[in-house]
Amino acid sequence: MSKQFDVIVIGGGPGGYIAAIRAAQLGMQVACVDEWKNSKGGPALGGTCTNVGCIPSKALLQSSEHFDQAGQHFAEHGISVSGLSLDVTKMVARKDTVVKQNNDGIAYLFKKNKVSFFHGRGSFVKAIDGGYEIKVSGAAEETLLAKQVIVATGSSARALPGTPFDEEMILSNDGALRITAVPKKLGLIGSGVIGLEMGSVWRRLGAEVTVLEALPVFLGAVDEQIAKEAHKAFVKQGLKIELGVSVGDIKKSKKGVNVAWTNAKGETQALDVDKLIVSIGRVPNTVGLNAEAVGLQLDERGAIVVDEQCRTNLAGVWAVGDVVRGPMLAHKAEEEGVAVAERMAGQHGHVNFNTIPWVIYTNPEIAWVGQTEAQLTDAGRAYRVGTFPFLANGRARALGDTTGMVKMLADSATDEILGVHIVGPMASELIAECVVAMEFRASSEDIARICHAHPSLSEATKEAALAVDKRALNF
Ligand SMILES: Cc1cc2nc3c(=O)[nH]c(=O)nc-3n(C[C@H](O)[C@H](O)[C@H](O)COP(=O)(O)OP(=O)(O)OC[C@H]3O[C@@H](n4cnc5c(N)ncnc54)[C@H](O)[C@@H]3O)c2cc1C
Repeated sequence: MSKQFDVIVIGGGPGGYIAAIRAAQLGMQVACVDEWKNSKGGPALGGTCTNVGCIPSKALLQSSEHFDQAGQHFAEHGISVSGLSLDVTKMVARKDTVVKQNNDGIAYLFKKNKVSFFHGRGSFVKAIDGGYEIKVSGAAEETLLAKQVIVATGSSARALPGTPFDEEMILSNDGALRITAVPKKLGLIGSGVIGLEMGSVWRRLGAEVTVLEALPVFLGAVDEQIAKEAHKAFVKQGLKIELGVSVGDIKKSKKGVNVAWTNAKGETQALDVDKLIVSIGRVPNTVGLNAEAVGLQLDERGAIVVDEQCRTNLAGVWAVGDVVRGPMLAHKAEEEGVAVAERMAGQHGHVNFNTIPWVIYTNPEIAWVGQTEAQLTDAGRAYRVGTFPFLANGRARALGDTTGMVKMLADSATDEILGVHIVGPMASELIAECVVAMEFRASSEDIARICHAHPSLSEATKEAALAVDKRALNF
């Protein structure tokens, strides 16, 4: 017998599970179908983000940061550590516990909000009168019916052509989060957010890390001044970063992986590593949806085509998160999920793409919101710049972490904040104030006039705002 709902959400990652909860809060009968399996074959709600993305990467980044601090920096505080050792198996087990706490948390939220969960693959069968029939294939076969469907099936790591992931030697983010012994030599193809975070984890734990990046510039999406500062810090930490490379044959042997590559000068090179992480982007998950059965339109990348409101070409079918255009970020997926649920309920959900924050959780952290100097120059917009280095911030000195700066860009005529770019300690937390400011269309003077606690890293944001008007007080 088929089961009837108001809305069926396919995918239980941040886009899907948040959409399901919001729709339930708004009084709809909601089903969520997710196929992710934990190591025992059971459900593991939370998608890429919870299982092999945001959460486990941050758990390992934290553990490796502790190890690095104990080994490299405690002595500066007069703390000596002898016999420092590393139990990678325990570190990875802790990460798995953190993941499970998050999986269980979402299952609890589903119960609390009366969202019906189905473990298995969801696929379109056909359009029915006033809705859609969705088949669940998994432990239990089910047929579900609903007027509205939200597709939130996410994305998967892109492999290099001809070099599939084996998750033993050639690793995606999944395998990179499950390494159980520190590789002596680790290769990384791609210096994007995910690659840099993974590289940082294993570099801090002692691996010799080489990053091969095809683009001629480091972190092309990041404001150039901030990217240069970050590059300097990463090189100082021992990351070898090669830009403008072209990767050739990749061969596996019992000893490891051999990567043939050409450097920016066109010289042929070889890299021998124990493990190779390939982090060259992600592909939308639409295989298995049976999109053709209902004529759901996909683009040439396989992403679901949506308008600015996340409506697909089919009445009553919406799509959110990594499976559609826009930045592949968990909080962007969540915002779209909420907005779609609210639109289904006749409300005016919205997502402001101009104020979506970006964070790279390396050390130093990199975070930004709004436009870069290059983007403003290209757009012909006149702007003023204020920068403030953490070197001149009392809290950063006390923390012993003075790398980097806050940089604020404001419109020359109106002083409206157009972008904030941070590299340095706790950039991921500091950026929130800047997002709020931009959401309220604040001026740099607004931030400059707000009382910030002393001593705090956030004073660097206030000082950068003062610096826009050339009146920083502490630099
Ligand atoms: C290593 C790594 C670190 C990251 N760190 C961050 C970070 O710090 N911050 C950040 O914002 N973003 C981060 N991301 C990106 C973030 O994980 C994604 O943007 C986010 O998970 C997208 O959410 P989603 O709901 O669209 O898709 P997903 O999280 O991919 O969830 C999709 C779900 O749908 C399921 N599914 C797919 N097809 C079907 C089907 N037919 N039937 C049933 N279920 C299906 C999948 O199994 C999955 O559970 C990271 C990604 C990686 C890989």
